[in-house]
Amino acid sequence: MKISELVRKNILSLKPYASARDEFSGEADIFLDANENSLAGKYKRYPDPLQRDLKKSVASFIGVKPEQLFLGNGSDEAIDLLYRVFCEPGQDSVLLFPPTYGMYAVSAEINNVRIINQPLTENFQLPAINSKAKLAFLCSPNNPTGNDLSRDGMIKFIREFPGIVAVDEAYIHFSDQPSLVSEIEKYPNLVVLQTFSKAIGMAGIRLGIAIANEELINFFNKVKPPYNVSALTQEAGLTALQDMGWFRNTVKDIKESRELLVKQLGSCPVVEQIYPSSANFHLVKVKGAKKVYKKLIEEGIVVRDRSGVLLCDECLRITVGTPKENQLLVNIMAQI
Ligand SMILES: *Cc1c(COP(=O)(O)O)cnc(C)c1O
Repeated sequence: MKISELVRKNILSLKPYASARDEFSGEADIFLDANENSLAGKYKRYPDPLQRDLKKSVASFIGVKPEQLFLGNGSDEAIDLLYRVFCEPGQDSVLLFPPTYGMYAVSAEINNVRIINQPLTENFQLPAINSKAKLAFLCSPNNPTGNDLSRDGMIKFIREFPGIVAVDEAYIHFSDQPSLVSEIEKYPNLVVLQTFSKAIGMAGIRLGIAIANEELINFFNKVKPPYNVSALTQEAGLTALQDMGWFRNTVKDIKESRELLVKQLGSCPVVEQIYPSSANFHLVKVKGAKKVYKKLIEEGIVVRDRSGVLLCDECLRITVGTPKENQLLVNIMAQI
């Protein structure tokens, strides 16, 4: 498969904006090239448009080359770029597997890309696929259901699908299933999305990651705004990856709390079913989701009501919190 044949014609021929920091990125003593305020302090300079230092660190964290990475303003920027690079508005379509993350559909609508919905099966796995599209989003572990998609099923899909396949691994660090990052060299149409927002614990800095072959990443770089990741975010991202001990411990702790919650919530009379989770949340089927949601709010606990979502009747999505927060949740749930 040739990636360039999937790219929109106007993007193929686009001459990207060349910023001051693109044209000169070496060492110098005096920068008079970008109209910054040279009298100012720490953040007076535009940031590195390609985030080279941060990418080195992210690349070694993930086990890929820096050239195989795109960093953006959350995964949301990568999702939007996938549409803008590959999908001709009013013409191309995207294949989605609901119930799944809402941004894929919202971003499709913003970009005027037709959505083909093929619902997941009853146990939240990929259905038999009979649709062609330019782009498809798989989410594993899936939000809001929490389960992994079967690895063999995803690989088969990536092999057979005639377009770009984005596999959203926002929750992969909480899963026992290995990442598909190891497959990016084998499948040029595969883009893996990860994020600093979940296991890495940095939702506030807005830092999303797309991992793919270098040719595809270069199209992202061509289309993205020149300074899409701020200096503050680049700094905080680098700091976050310095403490791998903390990262491993926090993931282990959250997985333990997740399993404890299965036992504790499972013994609450109001709980009908807890779906298997490879993420840091549970999809929980309760007797009367709206009522339970309201009761929890009254007690100061906010969960996500997913009862209006396909295949999620009477379901709440509950994030694993601190041990104390989890205990308070369980205490209230036990009384309902
Ligand atoms: C939380 C989440 C993200 C993260 O999005 P950011 O923009 O990086 O914060 C991405 N995908 C899914 C499925 C999520 O649940």
